[in-house]
Amino acid sequence: MSVGFDEACRQILAATSPLGPEQAQLLDAAGRTLAEDFLAPWDLPRYDNSAMDGYAVRAADAAAAAELLVTGYNPAGSGDLPPVAPGCAVKIMTGAAIPPGGELVVPVEEAEEKDGKVRLLTALPVREHIRFRGEDIAAGSKVLPAGTLLRPPEINLLASFGQALVPVYRRPRVAILSTGDELVELGTPLVEGRIINSNALSLAAAVRDAGGEPLLLGIARDTLESHREKLAQGLTADVLITSAGVSAGDRDLVREVLAELGVEQKFWKVDIKPGRPTAFGVKGSTLVFSLPGNPVSTLVTFEFFVRPALRKLQGFTPAIRPFARVLLAEAVRKRPERVQFLRVQVRTEQDRLVAFSAGDQNTGILSTMVRANGIVVLPAGRDRFAAGDQVEALLLD
Ligand code: AMP
Ligand code: MG
Repeated sequence: MSVGFDEACRQILAATSPLGPEQAQLLDAAGRTLAEDFLAPWDLPRYDNSAMDGYAVRAADAAAAAELLVTGYNPAGSGDLPPVAPGCAVKIMTGAAIPPGGELVVPVEEAEEKDGKVRLLTALPVREHIRFRGEDIAAGSKVLPAGTLLRPPEINLLASFGQALVPVYRRPRVAILSTGDELVELGTPLVEGRIINSNALSLAAAVRDAGGEPLLLGIARDTLESHREKLAQGLTADVLITSAGVSAGDRDLVREVLAELGVEQKFWKVDIKPGRPTAFGVKGSTLVFSLPGNPVSTLVTFEFFVRPALRKLQGFTPAIRPFARVLLAEAVRKRPERVQFLRVQVRTEQDRLVAFSAGDQNTGILSTMVRANGIVVLPAGRDRFAAGDQVEALLLD
């Protein structure tokens, strides 16, 4: 049962909903999304304070050439506030609370202090250079709605409101399983005719990059028993990703055993290249991605299918990152019935993003993927694209 690219994306997101919340230390919450609305527990600023180093005075005294008696000093952080009496000034530092009676602040640059007196050089209006209580954020207002990405400004805001722990969406636990008798684990002796299980590492790195916690399940051998044991283990995670064992040449052990374990398959093949033998299913709340084994196909299908699901699980919006519009540097031909992905180098030329082929587009060529900083999506329904045609690309970094 093969489906189109858009339909595959739609089915995956339809089967995915955000994980529950957990409390995280504020710094660990950075880069994640808020799982609940955040209401300001108090006004920000909390009290009227000075925007300048200067003198707090009464409005009636703030005339040019007025001479006022300096009756106090209020540095920032002082809780003890000498009031401002008529005809007097209180020296004040930036951020310090405005003392009772203070109606504006005259900056040091606009005053001359001598022998306990200050002479004002200009007349200033009432309220000048005061940051008023609540002028930034009023107590009780919904400052950050659920789903907000916590960037450094949001972290500052939450810290300003004393939030040491914040509710964020839980990180998905993502089990990663490789299949195939030809595989050996990294760090073990490499026998002739075998290859290293490199997909486990690239997938784990991709999962981590997408905010998930990778769980490495190792290798399922090409037997039913081995597949049963490993796949059952993987189904206890939030997401299970397998690589290989789903292409036409294999005895399809992954498919067979997932069905036996009660995974409801949504689709088994997608009309894309590379990555056609990609499958997706669900069991309970576990999402199951069966990706092709070829390292290029594994990573390309991760980007288009798995990453959006991991984003949605963590409350990131939009789940699918926006594509960039780029111009093709060279003409390309393809089969019209499927979407084709091109590994490209996107560069800015005369203010426009131009996509150059990153090299041999054969699926077996990993080095082209290494050189690519983008993947162009050539839509279905067309078979030829000319140099200069505008297309969409996923930017990888
Ligand atoms: P398959 O999907 O089983 O037909 O595998 C396609 C290609 O991917 C073959 O060249 C495999 O050797 C290779 N391959 C499969 N699994 C892995 C893996 N875990 N790491 C690296 N390459 C793999
Ligand atoms: Mg195989």
